[in-house]
Amino acid sequence: MPNIYRLFHEGTKRGGDFILDADGTTLATYKDLETRSARYANRLAGLGLNKGDRVMVQVEKSAESLFLYFACLRAGLIYLPLNTAYQRSELEYFIGNSSPKLVICAPASEALFTSICSTSEPAICVQTLDGEGKGSIREELGNQADTFADQPCDDRDIAAILYTSGTTGQPKGAMISHGNLEANLTTLHKAWGFTGQDVLLHALPIFHVHGLFVATHLAVLNASPIVFLPKFDAQEITRLLPHASVYMGVPTNYTRLLSNPEFGKGACRNMRLFTAGSAPLLPQTFDEFKHRTGHTIVERYGMTETGMNTSNPLKGARKAGTVGLPLQGVSCKIIDSAGNPMEINETGSLLVKGPNVFSGYWQLPEKTQEEFTADGYFRTGDLACRDEDGYISIVGRGKDLIITGGFNVYPREVENVIDKMHGVDESAVIGLPHSDYGEAVTAIIVRSEGSDIDEKAIIQHLKATLANFKVAKQVLFVDTLPRNTMGKVQKNVLREQFKQ
Ligand code: AMP
Repeated sequence: MPNIYRLFHEGTKRGGDFILDADGTTLATYKDLETRSARYANRLAGLGLNKGDRVMVQVEKSAESLFLYFACLRAGLIYLPLNTAYQRSELEYFIGNSSPKLVICAPASEALFTSICSTSEPAICVQTLDGEGKGSIREELGNQADTFADQPCDDRDIAAILYTSGTTGQPKGAMISHGNLEANLTTLHKAWGFTGQDVLLHALPIFHVHGLFVATHLAVLNASPIVFLPKFDAQEITRLLPHASVYMGVPTNYTRLLSNPEFGKGACRNMRLFTAGSAPLLPQTFDEFKHRTGHTIVERYGMTETGMNTSNPLKGARKAGTVGLPLQGVSCKIIDSAGNPMEINETGSLLVKGPNVFSGYWQLPEKTQEEFTADGYFRTGDLACRDEDGYISIVGRGKDLIITGGFNVYPREVENVIDKMHGVDESAVIGLPHSDYGEAVTAIIVRSEGSDIDEKAIIQHLKATLANFKVAKQVLFVDTLPRNTMGKVQKNVLREQFKQ
């Protein structure tokens, strides 16, 4: 499979709108994507970049930032997007670890990056690009040719490095190849039934697999218009949904939409598909969404290292609380600590294998080897179970597993019970060090507005519902749960905050 960009040429030749802003103004057409990505690719070559060089990008969303991304694909450069929230010490680590040849950052961060890069050997070029699409990288763009001969690649050539969120230890750079991207794109395109009639409403960040590869690639493969929003805003999404047919979100997007009284059937009248992932979608959110809009959200499961692995089907049952079935070409195994397959509905470690699975962590061959089994399966680190129809449920991260008095407690099971209680908005269950039990099950709870539910009521209900060892020893109340930009609850932050 050569350079993935070849799949996009056909759509760019057809033309039509590529990027629209919230007012419906066309910011770029597909013809622009072809010519502007060519100009950027020529500009990057002019800066002395060659196949395999890393281009680190920490910028706001804009049409120009997408041209730049596609230019990197075309030129065979390794695109390395960074979360815009990263600060100096994190940036120093990423630069030291990946040795980019070029950094493109917001103008406000130029001095910071220049100072970090000042001692780098070989030298790193620093350029700017702002959220309006202006910056030094655009200088001389007008002098560049608007055609470019795409760099030949093979399917193992690295297209991007994405650093994993790294809730423990240093973030690792997942190397994602042209072949990985192509395999996942063509599989999802079929699984989710994309057509040229689709219009994507895009409110995800583009430094993550969800917003960049899943959402953007799927739209570009059809040459579908993308309504491109800088960030999620429930009011704005409700207003713009009637102009779209597809929305891809993280679970918190859906809970926030449901909290907006104006959101309902009317807003969704032209919608074909809602997908959710990157964090668990609560069954009650799935049900409430269906009740309010008539749409069932397609929950899917993936990760930076693998792209998407499973999805609820487009045709067929979409089961709340599950992430559906393995996607075509992806094989999933659920095993115990000795490597034996688990029975139906029993929880074990989830392993995946397929052409979507990355080739390894940047400059960490030993770590990479540890994460793969001898028969080529990647250890996702997630705990999962499979029902009698083959639907997979993610029970939690392996490292979040609580071991209390020698018993395993899967936080998700306890959270599911608590979240269904009247007066509870949401919860996170963690293990805190305990002199007697090793770890004590601790429930951190956000009450619903006006609720005065207390520790006693929660513990009583848990006792009536679950085995005693799963019952929280302690219940704490907070205003909000800490979440990262992809909507994942940061349990490491909670463990740190509440440890004695
Ligand atoms: P990231 O690499 O940041 O995309 O995070 C990947 C992790 O997010 C997975 O290993 C899962 O723990 C979690 N995740 C992704 N999708 C889902 C989902 N639908 N349900 C539960 N957890 C999910």
